[in-house]
Amino acid sequence: MEAISKNFFLYLSNNKLLDRLAKRFGTRFGADKIVGGETFSQAIPLIQQLNQEGLQVTVDHLGEFVNCESEAKERAQECIHTIQSIAQYQLQSEVSLKLTSLGLDISRELVYENMENILQEAEKHGVTVTIDMEDSSRCEATLEIYKTMKAKYSNLGTVIQSYLYRSCGDLDELDSYDPYLRLVKGAYKESGKVAFPEKKMVDDNLKQMIEKNLLNGNYTAIASHDDAIIEFTKNLVKKHNIPTDRYEFQMLYGMRNQTQADLVKEGYNVRVYLPYGEDWYGYFMRRLAERPANIAFALKGIFSK
Ligand SMILES: Cc1cc2nc3c(=O)[nH]c(=O)nc-3n(C[C@H](O)[C@H](O)[C@H](O)COP(=O)(O)OP(=O)(O)OC[C@H]3O[C@@H](n4cnc5c(N)ncnc54)[C@H](O)[C@@H]3O)c2cc1C
Repeated sequence: MEAISKNFFLYLSNNKLLDRLAKRFGTRFGADKIVGGETFSQAIPLIQQLNQEGLQVTVDHLGEFVNCESEAKERAQECIHTIQSIAQYQLQSEVSLKLTSLGLDISRELVYENMENILQEAEKHGVTVTIDMEDSSRCEATLEIYKTMKAKYSNLGTVIQSYLYRSCGDLDELDSYDPYLRLVKGAYKESGKVAFPEKKMVDDNLKQMIEKNLLNGNYTAIASHDDAIIEFTKNLVKKHNIPTDRYEFQMLYGMRNQTQADLVKEGYNVRVYLPYGEDWYGYFMRRLAERPANIAFALKGIFSK
């Protein structure tokens, strides 16, 4: 049953007609429980509310796989505008972005130009930017761009996925860059040639990576909703006396709200990943596919309107 609903929602996530309809009707139908709005202005009161609750934020303008130069430049402008608004409203928020939205599939020069513009503005306002990690075919290029830009801009992070065989090696390779790293299990469908086929191996590798990165002294964002990973991290930092300013927990907006609040109460730093933008439909469907329990609050959203 779970596999059927997963495939069903992944199929729906690629449906262009539903995507167009979704844009017309806005983030009603439950999407507003996991998406911050269609524009950054709509997300501002929500970020202020999260900040008041002791949660920090990273915002992501939804939309990937841009195919033309002008659209990639528009996406970069949106990031710049977001950074300026974060500064103007004094929000405790970082920015997350995907390199495909800045033209990774068009040309490397275009990505560098867009990243330069974004990072100059981010540096000016003291805002940190994290490059999300996409599928494995884009991992090498993403890390190359990360290293090049990190040598120039300190306020830059990226993501390493524990399902990839290469990831422990990538941590070693990045060690000399004083990296800011978000560690995750990985969200894309990958082949056994590049990724661990079993969940236990992915989980064990994530634990190993968290330990390695923290003991290397690098800032670590542990991005998982999994109690076992959270408990592992809590025990590890206690054992090695690692101060709370060297790591943080991260979770997606709308997921495990009580756990987020409990962690804040216990004195841990917690950051919420808050997506916004008109292209919310695919993100919403992928979250429904990932976790059937999310369907319940989507249905509640539809019937309470
Ligand atoms: C802040 C953030 C940023 C991310 N960035 C990236 C990225 O750049 N690239 C990328 O590939 N992936 C990214 N991911 C996604 C990540 O790779 C995983 O696909 C996703 O987080 C699911 O793995 P998990 O560790 O949360 O838990 P899972 O392994 O999916 O689940 C383990 C257990 O955790 C509990 N659990 C999980 N979700 C929930 C929930 N919603 N409510 C209650 N319990 C739950 C359940 O007990 C479940 O059995 C990101 C995730 C987060 C949180």
